[in-house]
Amino acid sequence: MNTELFSLILDSLNPYIAELAGAAIVASMISLFYARGTQKIVFNYLSAGFWMITCKDLALVALPIMPRFFPTWFMPPDLPLWITVCSSALAASFFLTAAVKNLKFIFSGVLFSGVLSLILIGIAYIVHQFPEETPLLNDLPKVYLIVSFAAIALSFYVGRRSTQQMSVRAVGTGFVILAVSYTYILWGFIQNDIVWLSGSYAALLFLSLASQISFMNLYSLTLEQALSLEKRRQTQIWEVSPFPIIISKLRDDTIIYINPVAQKFFDIQPWELNAFHFSDYFVVKQKREELTQYIRNEGIINSFEVQMKHPKRNEIVWIDLSTRVIDLDEEIALYTTFKDITLRKDEELKLAEQATTDPLTQLYNRRQFEVMATQQLTLAARHQIPFCLFMLDIDHFKQVNDTYGHDAGDTVLKKLASTIQTTMRKSDISARYGGEEFVIFLPHTSPEQGKNAAEHLRRDVERLEIDINGKQIAITISLGISSGMTTDLAGLIKEADIALYHSKENGRNQTTLYEDLPLTPDREEKEK
Ligand code: GH3
Ligand code: MG
Ligand code: MG
Repeated sequence: MNTELFSLILDSLNPYIAELAGAAIVASMISLFYARGTQKIVFNYLSAGFWMITCKDLALVALPIMPRFFPTWFMPPDLPLWITVCSSALAASFFLTAAVKNLKFIFSGVLFSGVLSLILIGIAYIVHQFPEETPLLNDLPKVYLIVSFAAIALSFYVGRRSTQQMSVRAVGTGFVILAVSYTYILWGFIQNDIVWLSGSYAALLFLSLASQISFMNLYSLTLEQALSLEKRRQTQIWEVSPFPIIISKLRDDTIIYINPVAQKFFDIQPWELNAFHFSDYFVVKQKREELTQYIRNEGIINSFEVQMKHPKRNEIVWIDLSTRVIDLDEEIALYTTFKDITLRKDEELKLAEQATTDPLTQLYNRRQFEVMATQQLTLAARHQIPFCLFMLDIDHFKQVNDTYGHDAGDTVLKKLASTIQTTMRKSDISARYGGEEFVIFLPHTSPEQGKNAAEHLRRDVERLEIDINGKQIAITISLGISSGMTTDLAGLIKEADIALYHSKENGRNQTTLYEDLPLTPDREEKEK
């Protein structure tokens, strides 16, 4: 290498050597010692920041040498400035991300630092639009770094746990010194001739920071041993818990730990954990989101009843779970314990069903019909949707009872109910209104369609052959339909009942639409 090139390199290296060496040393130390370790993410961002500063200095050193190798290349006069601005903005964003992560906020670091660096570069660009502000533009990169160093220092003071107090303070102090020295360089020794002096000063500070970080590393190694002992003790306690315990990462729901009782409950072996995600087993996915919402707000949940799929057996269990956010190996985790309440829930559901269905026919009972039909009526009125209501009654049912006995009558009622269920649509609401009277609510049904459906049902019933002790008997039904645009259920039922009475009077086994009836005194009264 000729001496001329050598002195050129020395000259261009001169202003940056201190920062370059310092940043490279700190970056490599962090990368070496903290690639794994208890504070992995925070230190990864810290080293990324220092590597960024290293790259910036390397680029600035290379720029003045470039024309020697590429004589025709014209260097834009603003290039060094913008290299400085952009890389400092990136480095500062990494540092600020490290600072915020250090305070244990859960967020995407990549997104945060990306957006932040765009904002910082944007600010520089805006300042650039005002030529009189050029000195400010030159200072801006250092301001970014100073602010981010101060933020890291603050995060180490504020956000760390007390067991690491000493080393944490040391790192925090290192960054305070770094911030102060950059401030000093910026506003104290801005002249070129002492850049070298101030640079060496910075190098010393970087070195002291590096030694402090390695001190912290040593300290945290012994701390890690203590922690692992503590962890073993903690795990021993979980192992003997009579309740199932599951610990999962809050971030992606992967299961980190599962105690023997929970292993048995879910048939999961410890080596299979990676394949399981807590959220995969919620029967209703919204419930998982609801749970997350609660946890974000409260941090702890004491009783949350939810249906879970068994990961291996194809069955659904009800569990009552309690969960809280814990800090496990620097990971925000959910500590969940639960009990199986399937039996109790089944009992509750059975009771609820009993309260709403008729035991003989398994159709809805009258009370449930009133609740559901009222809801449908409100909807229909709001959206101006037609609907029909049927009232139907078995013809001469007393004779069935008298001839074949009460049990035969019950068989007939069941048969009629199942015919109603197969003939009517899923969206229709069928109920046993009482005795051998049934009501059916048909949403989205015009009077014309209602009449067709009623006739259909009537004929299906007429064709039934009901087996009573080996003898086939037949029955018929009479129906009344009402379909007025009213929200008054009692009024509708009354109209359907009048229509039904008319069917009976007219000879039974037929359908009458209330609207088709001649104006009787009763109807005139109503329509007034
Ligand atoms: P109509 O054609 O006028 O309706 O004549 P009907 O014989 O059906 O007369 P009505 O509607 O008054 O008869 C109702 C009968 O239904 C009387 C009652 O014994 C019988 N019944 C009511 N509930 C039950 C029940 O749960 N099981 C049985 N087997 N019969 C019932
Ligand atoms: Mg009757
Ligand atoms: Mg009857």
